[in-house]
Amino acid sequence: MSLLTRVVLLGPPGAGKGTQAKRIAAETGLVHLSTGDILRDEVARDTDLGREAKGVMDRGELVPDGLIMGMIGGRIAAAGSGFVLDGFPRTVAQAKSLETISPLDSVINIDLSRDEVVARLTARRVCKDCGRIYNLAFRPPSDPAKCEVCGGALFQRDDDREDVIRNRYNVYEKQTAPLIAFYGERKLLTELDGRAGSDEVYAQILRVLGA
Ligand code: AMP
Repeated sequence: MSLLTRVVLLGPPGAGKGTQAKRIAAETGLVHLSTGDILRDEVARDTDLGREAKGVMDRGELVPDGLIMGMIGGRIAAAGSGFVLDGFPRTVAQAKSLETISPLDSVINIDLSRDEVVARLTARRVCKDCGRIYNLAFRPPSDPAKCEVCGGALFQRDDDREDVIRNRYNVYEKQTAPLIAFYGERKLLTELDGRAGSDEVYAQILRVLGA
């Protein structure tokens, strides 16, 4: 079986979508597209889009569908037939727009409960320079302030505070979880248990993709 190459990772915040998508991209050559990473970059560069998105993101709510489609549509088209989408689509409207841009081969839902999400995200740290993701509880770096790979400073995302995390989970349940049924109906969906370790989830993803 040849590798399935137009892939969406679904799941609540903190389920491991970013970690898994980065690894898939590094090891298979698929293009990793994360709407969250693109938005954080817009915020860091203080662009018009970044200024518009920042308040929404800090509250843990969703950036309007029109802005998201304008930002990601061209990138997906440019990636052709090899991409892994992380954090997109997040609403049924986005999923319907995506259908007009590209067909998909596989949608993988990494499931995690609300309590597990809170425990994980309050301990999450990200490298400012290379974007590598650490967890002070489950995957601690030897120095809690420094990236083991590139030496960059580790930081806590503004939206990884407990009150914001709880709101993000509510938003996920209301606006994103309906995509599980949406893709189930289209026979594209595989469900994985996000409580398995990162390596185990990765191995399961590779099996689903036929790698
Ligand atoms: P993430 O890194 O995927 O957790 O995204 C961080 C934040 O960026 C989210 O809480 C939203 O505010 C915003 N965001 C990311 N992707 C999307 C999307 N596809 N639609 C709407 N908002 C998004």
